[in-house]
Amino acid sequence: MEYEVVIGLEVHAELATRTKMFCSCRVVDSTQAEPNTTVCPVCAGMPGVLPVVNRQAVDYAMKVGLALGCTINHTSLFDRKNYFYPDLPKGYQISQYEHPLASDGQLVVDTSQGEKVIRVRRAHLEEDTGKLTHVETDTENYSLVDLNRCGVPLLEIVTEPDIRSIEEAKAYATSLRAILRALGVNSGDMEKGVIRFEANISMREAGTDVLNNRVEIKNLNSFRAMERGIAYEIDRQIKIMESGGTVAQETLGWDEANGCTYTQRSKEDAHDYRYFPEPDLPPLVVDAEWVHRVHSTLPELPRARARRYMDEFGLSAADSALLAADISVAEYFENTLSAAKDVPGKTVAAWILGEVYAHLNRTSEAFESLRIDPAGLADLLVRLTKGEVNAATAKTILVTLLEKGGSAGEIIKAQGLQQTSDKGEIAALVSKALAENPTELESYRAGKETLANWFFGQVMRMAGGKANPQVVRDELARQLKGD
Ligand code: ADP
Ligand code: MG
Ligand code: ZN
Repeated sequence: MEYEVVIGLEVHAELATRTKMFCSCRVVDSTQAEPNTTVCPVCAGMPGVLPVVNRQAVDYAMKVGLALGCTINHTSLFDRKNYFYPDLPKGYQISQYEHPLASDGQLVVDTSQGEKVIRVRRAHLEEDTGKLTHVETDTENYSLVDLNRCGVPLLEIVTEPDIRSIEEAKAYATSLRAILRALGVNSGDMEKGVIRFEANISMREAGTDVLNNRVEIKNLNSFRAMERGIAYEIDRQIKIMESGGTVAQETLGWDEANGCTYTQRSKEDAHDYRYFPEPDLPPLVVDAEWVHRVHSTLPELPRARARRYMDEFGLSAADSALLAADISVAEYFENTLSAAKDVPGKTVAAWILGEVYAHLNRTSEAFESLRIDPAGLADLLVRLTKGEVNAATAKTILVTLLEKGGSAGEIIKAQGLQQTSDKGEIAALVSKALAENPTELESYRAGKETLANWFFGQVMRMAGGKANPQVVRDELARQLKGD
C-alpha cells in the first residue's frame, strides 16, 4: 500500500511586547536575565489578584492574524485551562479556547512542487509558563523554577491538517517565522525558545481522505527537530500499519539525543483541562476601527517583497525569495541599494548572495554581526561600477572588510589597489607580454586563438591584477592583430 502523511502544526510564538500578558512585569530574555527578577503577584499566581489584558499583545496578535488573512473576531473570550505543573504557579493557564481572537486564515508557501496553500484554523492568545531547570549531581537531584517567563504573551497558531510532507511542514514553519520577524512581533530566535512547534501526525492510504488516529509531538524546538520528529513518526506509523496494527492517539515527547519519540501520555481530551470561562477577564472586544488601525500598520510581507524585487530589479525568483525571506537581509539589501548610486539591483544582490553569503557559510557568523554595513558595501560597489577597482580586486577587498572591517577606500590606498585604465601604461605591458613570449605569439598567429586568454592572464599578472580588464582586452586584441 502507498501511504501519505497528514500533518497539522501548532506553533507557539512569544510576542515581543514590552510587558507581560496580564501584568506590568517586563518581558526579558529568559536565557539571560537573573531568574525570578521580573515577577509580581499576578504572574506568580497569588490569590486575589486581577489580570489585565495587555493591549500591545492584542495588537501584535492581530497583526499576525491579519498577515495570515484571518478573520479577526469581534468578541473573543479567555478561559482557564487547568492543570498542575511546577512551572505554572496558578494551576491554570489563561488561554482562548472556543472563541479565539483570529480564525480561518491561510499561508501560501513555496515548495519544489509549486505553491501550496495551508489553511490556518485559528490563532489565539495565551500566556507562557515559567521554566524548570533540572539539576542532577552525584549526591543531589532537584529542579529549579524560574518564573520570569510566566505570563509572557504567547500566540498559538494552529493549521488545518493540510500539510502532506516534511518539506511542506518546513516551508510552513520557515515562512511563518519570516512573517513574525517581518511584523516585528517575534525575534525568531529559536535557540531562545521564542518559537516552538508541535506536530500532529497521522498516516493514511495515499489518495484517500480519511483522518486516522494522530499523535502529537511536543517540544520541537528547532526546524531540524521538527523534521526529524516527523520522519521518525512516518516510519514508526507505517511499520505499525504494515503489521496490521492501529496507531494509538497519544502525546509524544521528542528525544533529541536518541532521535526518537516517546510516549508522554495517552492523548488528553479537552475535558481533562476543565476549561471554564476566566471570571476575572471581560470578553475581549475588538471593533472594526481597532482592526483597521492595526491593518494600516502592516509592513510589506516576504512574498510581496520578493515579487517586488523581481519586478523592480529583474532578480530571479530564487534570489528574490532568498533576500526577502529574512527581514534583516532584505533591509541590508535595500539600504545598500539606496546608498549605491548607479549600481544595479542585480549587482547588489549578486554580491550579497555571493561573497557575503560565502563568508557567512565559511564562518557561521550571524548576518546581524557582519562587520561591513550597507554604506560600506555600497561604497565598494560604487568604486567597482565606476571602474576604480576591477571585480577580482573588489572581491579581495570585500573579504578583508568582512574579516577585519574598515573601509574600501583605506584598503585601496594602503595596498595600492587602484585599478589602472591608463592606455599608455597598459599598452606597454601588452607589448612586453608579447615580446617575452614569442613562441605563444607565433602559435596564436598560426591560428591558436585561445591563446588570447592566456596572454590576457599574463598581462593581468604583470599588472598585479589592477589593470582595467576591458582596456587590457581591447589593447591586446589590437596588438595581437599586429596593428
Ligand atoms: P486539539 O484541540 O486536541 O489539539 P485539534 O483537533 O484542534 O486538536 O487539532 C490540533 C492539530 O491537529 C491541528 O493542527 C489539526 O490540523 C491537526 N490534526 C487534526 N486531525 C489530524 C489528523 N488526523 N492527522 C494529523 N493532524 C491532525
Ligand atoms: Mg494541541
Ligand atoms: Zn507580573
